[in-house]
Amino acid sequence: MKTLSLSSVILLATALFFQVLNVVAQGDPYSLPKLPYAYNALEPAIDAQTMEIHYSKHHAAYVKNLNAALKSGKYSDWTFDELMLYAGEIDEAIRNNGGGHYNHTLFWNILGQGKPFNPSSEVGKAVVTTFGSYDSLTTLLSKAGASRFGSGWAWLIVTPERKLAVCSTPNQDNPIMDVAPCRGIPVLGIDVWEHAYYLKYQNKRGDYLSALLSVINWEAVNLNYTEALKSQLLVTLERETWTGLQDYHVVMSQTFHPAEEGDLKPIKARSGEMVEKALALRNGSIPASFNTPEIKKAIDDLVTGSEEVDKLVQKKASDKAITDRLTKLHDTFHIIQGLCRH
Ligand code: MN
Repeated sequence: MKTLSLSSVILLATALFFQVLNVVAQGDPYSLPKLPYAYNALEPAIDAQTMEIHYSKHHAAYVKNLNAALKSGKYSDWTFDELMLYAGEIDEAIRNNGGGHYNHTLFWNILGQGKPFNPSSEVGKAVVTTFGSYDSLTTLLSKAGASRFGSGWAWLIVTPERKLAVCSTPNQDNPIMDVAPCRGIPVLGIDVWEHAYYLKYQNKRGDYLSALLSVINWEAVNLNYTEALKSQLLVTLERETWTGLQDYHVVMSQTFHPAEEGDLKPIKARSGEMVEKALALRNGSIPASFNTPEIKKAIDDLVTGSEEVDKLVQKKASDKAITDRLTKLHDTFHIIQGLCRH
């Protein structure tokens, strides 16, 4: 047997070391989660072949394409929550495949046999309080799924007001996204893409929906519900759907950032609008998690500060005086909004 020379062993070891390093350095940020049951676990409601293709082909492709789309680097430092929350700002490929990854991960998670609806669980009590009964909920979910034109999802979500709601979104969007017609954290999602049912149910989406609703793992839904209620993401959604704050934010970012660069035209043109938005913010209702003395004081300071900036603009004060006051106002704003993203 031919033995390896010392130098070739070193060469081989070095090559191997760099290969390992390479894998670590280029490791994909997202991976296909393990399916928590066998492909045939949901038979006869969902057949094994549909499950296998859905999971190992469709979901796998979303993960692969998401990783590929993130390779451009532009959004690689964004958290997954940020990719979802601000989906309207990012590349369509990341929105679609990121949504596909999130939605399917949730979908596998909330399916399973033998875990029926329990009216005395936390989510069970909330369902009865909100919709009257389990049957009313399933009617709403079936309607949401059946009336979604083309591909999309039907959802049971926790809203920023901490209530349950049913709604639907197109394509691979979901209610975490800023582009969604309804906002909240999904606790149950129903895939109404044809790839989810066509092999067994063909065009009969209604039959698929009733079968699917019989294999919901309500223990998992209950866990999703209790987790969502205490999540930081829900607080973020409260802030992102706080219209008064976001309206003020638009004027602030479109005037302060140019002023930082020495361009005072925007603030000189819009200081009056800034006062209006600050007043609207103060007069509107404050989301529960933000209803604190500290935030209320910051909102009062925002009104006072916006009025001061407006007065400086009106009396044609120096650019420096306006910029200094606006900078202070921007700091006050971020007591409420949190730090600027990116
Ligand atoms: Mn699907």
